[in-house]
Amino acid sequence: MDAQSFREFGKAAIDYMADYLENIRDKQVLPNVEPGYMRKLLPEEAPEEPEDWREVLKDMDRAIMPGLTHWHSPHFHAFYPTANSYPGIVGEMMSAGLGTIGFTWMSSPASTELEVITLDWLGKMIGLPPQFLSCSPGYGGGVLQGSASEATLLCLLVARERYVQRLHEKNPSLTEQELRATKAKLVAYASDQSNSSVEKAGILGSVPMRLIRADEKFQMSGSNLRAAIEADLKEGLIPCIVISTLGTTPTCANDPLREIAAVCSEFGIWLHVDAAYSGAALICPEYRYICEGIELADSFNFNPHKWMLVNFDCSALWVKDSRELVAAMSVDRAYLVHTQQDAGMPDYRNWQIPLGRRFRALKLWFVLRIYGVKKLQEYIRAQCKLATDFEMLLRGDDRFEIFTPAHMGLVTFRLKGPNENTNKLMANLQKSKKIYVVGAEVGGKAMIRFAICSRFTTFSDIEYAWNEMVSQTDKVFLTSPENATNGHF
Ligand code: PLP
Repeated sequence: MDAQSFREFGKAAIDYMADYLENIRDKQVLPNVEPGYMRKLLPEEAPEEPEDWREVLKDMDRAIMPGLTHWHSPHFHAFYPTANSYPGIVGEMMSAGLGTIGFTWMSSPASTELEVITLDWLGKMIGLPPQFLSCSPGYGGGVLQGSASEATLLCLLVARERYVQRLHEKNPSLTEQELRATKAKLVAYASDQSNSSVEKAGILGSVPMRLIRADEKFQMSGSNLRAAIEADLKEGLIPCIVISTLGTTPTCANDPLREIAAVCSEFGIWLHVDAAYSGAALICPEYRYICEGIELADSFNFNPHKWMLVNFDCSALWVKDSRELVAAMSVDRAYLVHTQQDAGMPDYRNWQIPLGRRFRALKLWFVLRIYGVKKLQEYIRAQCKLATDFEMLLRGDDRFEIFTPAHMGLVTFRLKGPNENTNKLMANLQKSKKIYVVGAEVGGKAMIRFAICSRFTTFSDIEYAWNEMVSQTDKVFLTSPENATNGHF
């Protein structure tokens, strides 16, 4: 493809994306396709001869669009949001266009330096203590990872290596075999409400993850954590890392950080904070109460790619002592050495699992500059308000009970009575496909999560979702009238 065709294709693609996003409200949020649908639409072999980009773009409508779930539809209320904004999209394109790989400072100084600066900006925006920032004295700093899952795994691996290295320093005569035997005794802790990626990090890092039973507020209490740690110590096991969650996936609960941090300090355990979704809200000072005690953590992570308008993938991780990352992650080769490596700028290959890395900071920089802190704060507050609006509608109908009140952009609820009612409602909603929500079962109770996800969502979309909820609930009680609690028929 020559540059002229690239210009034409690129411009047509931008028009395509803008038309898609501006008209997304009119699309059914969930597609109607069946598994395997695309095989019928695409040839069995890749084309031998070059095709015109116009033909390819046409196939977007024919083959791709029918099978898309519209994550940016204002009727998408499932999971948590995935961010999308025009500055974020352009940042993503620019990163592809420049196509640099910034694994060392020398391999692309601008990639590294913009990442250092934007992560300091972002850290200050969310009120992180200075110990986590590169612009403060010490070894703190931020780095962009691909996902919160990677950030958790990375910190677990670093905590594991930190333990082993410290042990080796204290007992230099320990053999490789003895150190390996010690590694096998390490254990990690998180709440049973933590994200699936946390348990997975334990599996991948070969550190068993104790899932501590959350209390009635769906939080991991310091006392339950302590009890689990003490039981493991009695068994001769070695507590290595605690992953505490701010904004759990099922109900957006926050573990009490200060309480947990006190336990971690007492036992010398790494404390990682997973604030994948909720972290974005910390740009609004009124939400910072959730991270009280954060100065005691070793690492903190949140996803601007969830709720801060930066397109996937962009997961911000800060550590207090980057030397620990480097000690665990650095494997040197002559071809990676460069003359500036001791000049105070990170070689980010040593702050992550892969070697290669994209220029992710560009899209973050674009979003921070083109929205500015004030507009981003306005955005978060508006989304939180919409969740409260939906909660108010639920409260006005006595067939529903609030499972957890609106917190950030999430409210969870259920139909009164047996789980079967809520499960039927979920099934009806999934069949009708007018809105997309997901259910969960917490503490034996079936509930539905309603998250504000799209940047296009307005109060009229909340009313639309509510009308759909009422109409599908009517059907639940029409089929089992003995469960009806009021006259919505
Ligand atoms: N942690 C929490 C609390 C989450 O809610 C999620 C995803 O929703 C994750 C981690 C995983 O995030 P990622 O997809 O960036 O790995």
